[in-house]
Amino acid sequence: MRINAQILIVEDEAAQQAVLAYNLTSAGYETVQAVDGDKALQLIEEQLPDLILLDWMLPGTSGIEICRQLKVRKDTQAIPIIMLSARSEELDKVRGLETGADDYLQKPYGIQELLARIKLQLKRTRPATMGAELQHDDLRMDTETQRVWYADREITLGRREYALLLALIEQPGKVFKRVTLLDQVWGREFDGETRTVDVHIGRLRKVLSQFGAEDVIRTVRGSGYALY
Ligand code: CA
Repeated sequence: MRINAQILIVEDEAAQQAVLAYNLTSAGYETVQAVDGDKALQLIEEQLPDLILLDWMLPGTSGIEICRQLKVRKDTQAIPIIMLSARSEELDKVRGLETGADDYLQKPYGIQELLARIKLQLKRTRPATMGAELQHDDLRMDTETQRVWYADREITLGRREYALLLALIEQPGKVFKRVTLLDQVWGREFDGETRTVDVHIGRLRKVLSQFGAEDVIRTVRGSGYALY
């Protein structure tokens, strides 16, 4: 199972929305779509996307305002935002306003250009989705071939256990809430209980300990799990 990055497209023009969704899906991304700012914020509450394409001119809350809000929120400020705007004056304004957007593109832009900019952002924030090799102490994961090693011995993991470990290794030391792991590994459509996470963490620990990797995953009481 390849872990695909999820991109939220916020664009009020149906034709542009469709073109973006089509091209991003073809490039291997999962997409979520919003036609206005309020819907975008609502989707973000449900699940944090890995990247946001944000149109400047939107009905209701503007793209600029959404960008500002997200960049001051602790849980959303690290999500890369690429602003899309129709005119160069708007683009100048976006830059001048220091909204905290990570990148800007002026319409009409080439899809290859957009895909390149997206890649650049995700390589930084979600290396696990970009086929990178991740390492933490003796633990190593190749996200391209989906192979895992501990102290150079290869480990075979179930698909959920693999995805859990991948989430944890991307940000070692970070405490992941069960509900976050549930979203990230099982997806937002999954209507399961957080207890499911405990079961699979248990399985993952068991396999790791067979390879001498004891206490790699720490339980943080009342919060969740972290890689140590
Ligand atoms: Ca628009």
